[in-house]
Amino acid sequence: MAGKLDCRLARSFDVTHPKDHLLSWLRDAHAAEEQAITMLSNLSRRIENYPELKARIEQHITETRRQSERVRECLQRHGSDASTLKDTGTKLMGLGQALSGIFTGDEVMKGILASYTFEHMEIASYKMLAAAARRLGDPETARVCEEILQEELAMAKWLEDRLEQLTDKFLDLTAEGSATAKH
Ligand code: MG
Ligand code: FE
Repeated sequence: MAGKLDCRLARSFDVTHPKDHLLSWLRDAHAAEEQAITMLSNLSRRIENYPELKARIEQHITETRRQSERVRECLQRHGSDASTLKDTGTKLMGLGQALSGIFTGDEVMKGILASYTFEHMEIASYKMLAAAARRLGDPETARVCEEILQEELAMAKWLEDRLEQLTDKFLDLTAEGSATAKH
């Protein structure tokens, strides 16, 4: 009898409800947006010779602040909070370091690479979130995630369309011996 009960108890603790995954992924997304605000702000502040890039990053910082707010609202509708241990603990340290602490000769190129990578992580994350929210009967969260997804896709495409041009400009400035080619 006791064995059977223990077994049942153990099983009940193992169960993760589908909704828990949705909330956990929303918290991850919120943490990523907060991380993005820091990384993009650090990057933008340092850019001097690539004004279009700087302007597009600043536009995306504004979008990102709103995204963070909207994800937080999705969590709140479920009676959940964004600021948990998980939120601060799972920030994307690797990418953060790639964007914040670089003073290498090709700093701007490393920043572009990290931003492009980050956008694609966000694209995958919001596609997964929208699918999960739809399936779990939370169309409002699905709608929010799909709208955020469009902004991430637009940012990724903007960068992708300019990878060649930005590389050319970086190499031109380097060839001219400009000390500031790197940012
Ligand atoms: Mg974002
Ligand atoms: Fe983004």
